[in-house]
Amino acid sequence: MNIKTADRMDELPPYLFDKINGKKQRLKATGHDLLDLGIGDPDLPTPDFIKERLVQELDQPGNHKYSGFSGCLEFREAVADFYQKKFHVHLDPDSEVLALIGSKEGVAHFVFSMIDRGDEVMIPDPSYPVYRMATHLAGGKVRSMPLKPDLEFQPDFAELSEENYKAVKLAFLNYPGNPTGATVDLDFFAHAVRFFRQRNVILAHDSAYNLVTYDGYQAPSILQVDGAKDAVVEFGSLSKGFNMTGWRIGYIVGNADLINTLKTVKSNLDSSQFLPIQKAAATALTSDLSALNDRNDIYSQRADVLIEGLRKIGIDAGKPKGSIFIWARVPEGYTSAGFSEVMMEEAGVVVTPGVAFGTYGEGYFRMSLSVPEHLLREAVRRMQVYL
Ligand SMILES: *Cc1c(COP(=O)(O)O)cnc(C)c1O
Repeated sequence: MNIKTADRMDELPPYLFDKINGKKQRLKATGHDLLDLGIGDPDLPTPDFIKERLVQELDQPGNHKYSGFSGCLEFREAVADFYQKKFHVHLDPDSEVLALIGSKEGVAHFVFSMIDRGDEVMIPDPSYPVYRMATHLAGGKVRSMPLKPDLEFQPDFAELSEENYKAVKLAFLNYPGNPTGATVDLDFFAHAVRFFRQRNVILAHDSAYNLVTYDGYQAPSILQVDGAKDAVVEFGSLSKGFNMTGWRIGYIVGNADLINTLKTVKSNLDSSQFLPIQKAAATALTSDLSALNDRNDIYSQRADVLIEGLRKIGIDAGKPKGSIFIWARVPEGYTSAGFSEVMMEEAGVVVTPGVAFGTYGEGYFRMSLSVPEHLLREAVRRMQVYL
């Protein structure tokens, strides 16, 4: 049989995480003891009150049926409540909120619903690979927005000429950021909203870490900017905020027309999330969010431990105010891939090479804070031997 898969698959850039995972599995299979700091997945469990609601709802036969395409009203109202309570932003649960099967799904289908072949999408570099991959799959073109340390990993929108902006349809932002851990204030969002609106570019903000902040920092919502709903959407997720990555539940909020278009795409491709999961997520979003402080303190303490250890062995990294990552410079003389390879194969510590997130990730590596303190200390001890 001579099967040719879709051309768009040939155009996909290689997914570096697959390669890293392959090597990790091979090393584990041959008895290597690997300390995995490559993961972007909370190690702490989903809080009990959320699990209890799931179990309760599981017993209701009405919950075994299809959910409405937008997600159930209780979930959408809970998202609206959450935005009112946390950001003082009013949302209409019927037109300005849509449930997602995780924000990864939502981001990918959003790109499909907005991008025609040849349209350009501005994407931070380094960033979460889904923006880039979805753009390739939709036949769009990626325009990188370099994130550099001298601008605190904020893009300089004016770097691209006015002429070049004509082909740009959509731009992504993500703060607190993966992989850099960078955070912004509301003024930055206000500038971004104004800048992209003047150029007729849709702006999508991924706020996956909006509840994972520490040391007094509170992440703003881009919808707090006056007039943002004109052409802005924001993605959110229960995954990192409530330690619920496997549950697959998130949301998109903001401009009603854009959300309605995404809903049309999704209603033809999926039938929303399981109702007990949506209802448990509603319970999470309407709960007392100060209960998350303890969890966030744990990340903050882990960050302190890891950064102090890294500094002692000559690796420079700043402390983030949010996210679950430390973004550190690789030592002199290494590429990010070369350093990560030595760390995995020799030191037995898995870190993610910066280039996995884009060209501008070169010179860096990412370490996860979803690992207990004693293992972070052990990771530093192991790394020291090979530096
Ligand atoms: C983890 C992560 C997500 C994925 O969220 P899901 O809701 O689990 O799909 C989205 N964006 C960023 C930046 C992430 O790091």
